[in-house]
Amino acid sequence: MTSGERGDTIAAISTPLGTGGIGIVRISGPRSLAIAERLFRRKGKGQVGLLSRRFYTGEILHPADGRVLDEVLLVYMASPKTYTREDVVEIQGHSGILVLQEILQAVLASGARLAEPGEFTKRAFLNGRLDLAQAEAVIDLIQAKTRRSLEIAQGQRAGRLSEEVQALQDDLLDLLALLEADIDFPEEGLPEVSRGELRRRLEVNRRGLEALLRTYEEGKLYREGLAVVIVGRPNVGKSSLLNSLLREERAIVTAIPGTTRDVIEETLNISGVPLRIMDTAGLRHAQDAIEEEGVRRTRERLSQADLVIWVVDGSEPLKTEDLDLLSLLGPRKTAIALNKNDLPPGFSPESLREKIPDAPLVSISALRGLGIENLKDEIRRMILAGKTESPGEVLLSNLRHKQAIEKARQALDQALESLAAGLSAEFISVDLREAQAALGEIVGTHTSEDILEKIFSQFCVGK
Ligand code: GDP
Repeated sequence: MTSGERGDTIAAISTPLGTGGIGIVRISGPRSLAIAERLFRRKGKGQVGLLSRRFYTGEILHPADGRVLDEVLLVYMASPKTYTREDVVEIQGHSGILVLQEILQAVLASGARLAEPGEFTKRAFLNGRLDLAQAEAVIDLIQAKTRRSLEIAQGQRAGRLSEEVQALQDDLLDLLALLEADIDFPEEGLPEVSRGELRRRLEVNRRGLEALLRTYEEGKLYREGLAVVIVGRPNVGKSSLLNSLLREERAIVTAIPGTTRDVIEETLNISGVPLRIMDTAGLRHAQDAIEEEGVRRTRERLSQADLVIWVVDGSEPLKTEDLDLLSLLGPRKTAIALNKNDLPPGFSPESLREKIPDAPLVSISALRGLGIENLKDEIRRMILAGKTESPGEVLLSNLRHKQAIEKARQALDQALESLAAGLSAEFISVDLREAQAALGEIVGTHTSEDILEKIFSQFCVGK
């Protein structure tokens, strides 16, 4: 069976693999109930019918030999008021990898197939429970690293972006109706008054799109965060600074599966913006900054940076190695951390300020935790420069949505041009339909299978 085929029944472990209190195997599709009834025995009751939306305690039995696999809580939820709008069964077992896998195998052997990544949510979308922007918000919600990015995802999941898009679409539909009347009775022509009205409303819609587009930079900032690189010659205190920052503001530690501890990515949370510290392993072990390899690595890390923290040891005279680094920084947004201010100064900070006048310079002691707040304030200023925090506003945070809105804006521009050139209603309505289709890509009314595939493959299995 292919993934696109609905009507089959899917199953997966929906909780993270690992040891924990409980783990859930989720089943969705028309055979869910039959599978549950086949594998599940209620405590003391044997096999009896299961009612929707009741929790039952009992045991899951191996389908072939009848041995008890686990003691579980089971709930059956009849369609359509479920996550996927299909019949759903959730089996809550003990969360060990092996025991959950045994339960899953039993379910698969009883007529379900393994769900693909994101397939439960994809079904929720295909069955009309969520639109596409809401389904995408589910991924953002799961991956949110700061409260602010979570809020944005929650708003989008609740349908706030979709509502704005819907309002724009409704208005375009109204305008199309106006135009259709004209196409049906072309001999009457488009009366002057409706041309004026049309122009006015197209402009209003265009401004609505512009306003949404303006929120993208901020939305992206909170959703994706920024890549930060800490540079400096060996022994200036880079690792100490990182530790000092993480002590207070560590957002989350993401271990990338299949790799060693070395590539753990650290995320700082500064005013709700997730700051990803790039290549912390390199930071801890880079004692070779002056060697060719060190320079190459520094260059490479800098090329990925949205923001640079340049650490200088303020207790010693500036060295050529410090200045060599300066030449690598280029025009990137840089904050200078003048470290070791608990020791007597080795040079005048002014001489450094002159060399890189636009960068804020903060005196700190990474070891003692002094000046760290000031450094964070400067970083905050740099990342939020020119952004007005407006908590209630719908923020565009996804590149796909931004591109769709740009397409819609372009189509409206075209419509306005056609109108100004006195073209007939047919031309204008083609443009409006194009704008509608572009907006439809956001909520998923006009989306190709490829795009769906791409979106849902970002989910984990079981979601
Ligand atoms: P890195 O090589 O740049 O990562 O530097 P480290 O963080 O490993 O620090 C190098 C040395 O400087 C260590 O011995 C630290 O304890 C010391 N150090 C770091 N920050 C400070 C500071 O603010 N004051 C003092 N006195 N020593 C510091």
